[in-house]
Amino acid sequence: MSVYNPLLLRLLRVRSRAVLRLGRKVTTWSPVGAAFNAQAVRRPELFNKNVGLFGVPELSSTEGFEVVQKRALQETEQLVEKACSTPPGAVTVETFDKLSDSLCRVADLADFIKVAHPDPQYREAAEKTCINIGTTVEKLNTNVELCKSLKDLLDNKELMAKLDPETRRVAELFMFDFEISGIHLDKKQRKEAVNLNVQLLDLNNQFLMGCHMPNRIDKKALPKHIHQHFTNEGSYIQIGGLHADAPDDLVREIAYRIFLYPNEEMMGTLEELLSCRNKLAKLVGYESFAHRALKGTMAKNPDTVMNFLQLLTDKLKDRTEKDFEMMKDMKTKFNPRNPAVMPWDHPYLSGVIRAERFNIEPSLYSPYFSLGACMEGLNSLFTQLFGVSLLSEQPSAGEVWNEDVRKLAVVHETEGLMGYIYCDFFYRPDKPHQDCHFTIRGGRLLDDGQYQLPVVVLMLNLPSPTRSAPTLLTPAMMENLFHEMGHAMHSMLGRTRYQHVTGTRCATDFAEVPSILMEYFAADYRVINQFARHYQTGQPLPQSMVARLCESKKVCGAADTQLQIFYAILDQVYHGKPQSRSTTDILMDMQQKYYGLPYVPNTAWQLRFSHLIGYGAKYYSYLMSRAVASMVWRQCFHKDPLNRENGERYRREMLAHGGGKEPMLMVEGKFTFRSETLSHSAGRHNKDMHLSHSSHTLEICHLVLEAVPCSGVIQDIQGHDHLDLNIIDGVIYYLFRWSQDLRIGN
Ligand SMILES: [Zn+2]
Repeated sequence: MSVYNPLLLRLLRVRSRAVLRLGRKVTTWSPVGAAFNAQAVRRPELFNKNVGLFGVPELSSTEGFEVVQKRALQETEQLVEKACSTPPGAVTVETFDKLSDSLCRVADLADFIKVAHPDPQYREAAEKTCINIGTTVEKLNTNVELCKSLKDLLDNKELMAKLDPETRRVAELFMFDFEISGIHLDKKQRKEAVNLNVQLLDLNNQFLMGCHMPNRIDKKALPKHIHQHFTNEGSYIQIGGLHADAPDDLVREIAYRIFLYPNEEMMGTLEELLSCRNKLAKLVGYESFAHRALKGTMAKNPDTVMNFLQLLTDKLKDRTEKDFEMMKDMKTKFNPRNPAVMPWDHPYLSGVIRAERFNIEPSLYSPYFSLGACMEGLNSLFTQLFGVSLLSEQPSAGEVWNEDVRKLAVVHETEGLMGYIYCDFFYRPDKPHQDCHFTIRGGRLLDDGQYQLPVVVLMLNLPSPTRSAPTLLTPAMMENLFHEMGHAMHSMLGRTRYQHVTGTRCATDFAEVPSILMEYFAADYRVINQFARHYQTGQPLPQSMVARLCESKKVCGAADTQLQIFYAILDQVYHGKPQSRSTTDILMDMQQKYYGLPYVPNTAWQLRFSHLIGYGAKYYSYLMSRAVASMVWRQCFHKDPLNRENGERYRREMLAHGGGKEPMLMVEGKFTFRSETLSHSAGRHNKDMHLSHSSHTLEICHLVLEAVPCSGVIQDIQGHDHLDLNIIDGVIYYLFRWSQDLRIGN
């Protein structure tokens, strides 16, 4: 979920997966591997000085939260004073960033502690701090005098021209925070904006809560033999999810129909929420909520997003149909009298097809993926690509919130210490069941020329190691670990001047690029081979098993992508111009146009679409990030995933900039390079083919698209055709570029 809060706008990605418990013995590991494969050692902390959470001395007790909060608010006052009294220039932006830093350093830390600390007293103290800082931020975002100090700079063309591009961009981003808060409105309208915001907070919460509420049905209404599949509650059956993996068609169908049965109250909440968002967007000067949400992203506006999704649909159409055909064949086998593929069949049937064609039982893989082995793998990968090592450090007394939290120092071979990653990897009750990356402190250049080191937390929900066995990861958990480490390295390798744009503090549709890229590494045998070995025997993971795993992911890839496109389009339409039809009518229409499986009467899937809250109008982000990650992979790592020179290039051109550089500029920088490779391989156009020339873009798009049908199809062992997922990603990217140019109208 991304938490919306202008000055504090911080991204917090959520991906949840199931957890498995497995285990046995230990072999020998490198220091970082050993640290993660061993159980935490209880240290006698009685005689050691408590250094406070994250080494903040005041936070050795709950009272400390008030102290650090007070100090931050005092600093804020001084900095506001300074910003308003200093003549406009680079110093204005620096002051704003310091202001944001002193608030974020406390608020981000508290934001994390409030969800993760095992002690409720700490959680409570942190929560209070979050509220107090949040209120201050709201006030600052509508502080007319403060805004004027920035506007004076932005309006002065001469001064602006003298600033470096990063400073200019950060100035614009700060101004953007003021604008979307309605700073330019008169007093009455500003009050209206505040009221709408308050109303939205409430509606968001209501919708989020309702999304996960189970539905109930009288037991008598359901055949007896399926009662056991659901929660029984007296004379009722309670259904709290889609049971998408249930082998029984009837169980899936009933779960789908009942869990998605429309709830009038929720319907009202959603319509009110969308109308409220629209009002707010219009009030602060945007055509629609989507227009407001997309400003500052790679896509920039709703037209680009819709073009992107439409073109992608057109291109995938045939393949999606083939996937559904394949599912139909499978369903006919099980249920010859009722072979039509329904929405509740899609995930189940694709899973069955995968399992039938490739033997990919997770427990076969997990002995090779002990947590220590995976950490060794990450360490070795980062050393080879970037020259950085992950060093396990013993946290001091009181520094971490739970004794099984590990601390990693990230050290570059010549640049030295780059930052710290706290690894809160193991399951415990009361901890959010999500895999997330939290920024605790952003990197920034300090006045004395030193660099404020970034500090982050990675949160996973892995089983703890036991006396006899380390934690063993399923392939999905391993992929998740790599994904989250991608976010962490974005933070660690960022060297932006301002913390406001460091690491993951970038456009939503760009933020997942480094993490999705890591999923490519996690699926490449040349990388896996370096670390996957049996925790008892030391045997390496057979290459054929990796190949099977990778192949299996391609099954039904087009249909899965199409489902994501449908969700993304629905999110766009809901946040576009208000419509005179109901959200269900819109869903029905979009499902028919953009999915392919029929709408089921008396269902309202949209009422379970919780991403509408955190990702409003930006649900497409994941697809777009995937497209860009695919491009980076192909350009830099496809040939050699351990290539140092390309690792450095990737760091220099993308990771280092965080959100400090317009995302499209970073992408274009890459793209120039790509076009050379492409023209070389195509044996034509050896001249400069920079893609800002859109005629060339179009040409290249066609070229690539032409190449898709032959190079993109892979045959599995039994001779079935599959679309190579990498190719899908590639197509996504080219279509995205293409739609961009169409939009410009060239
Ligand atoms: Zn992520």
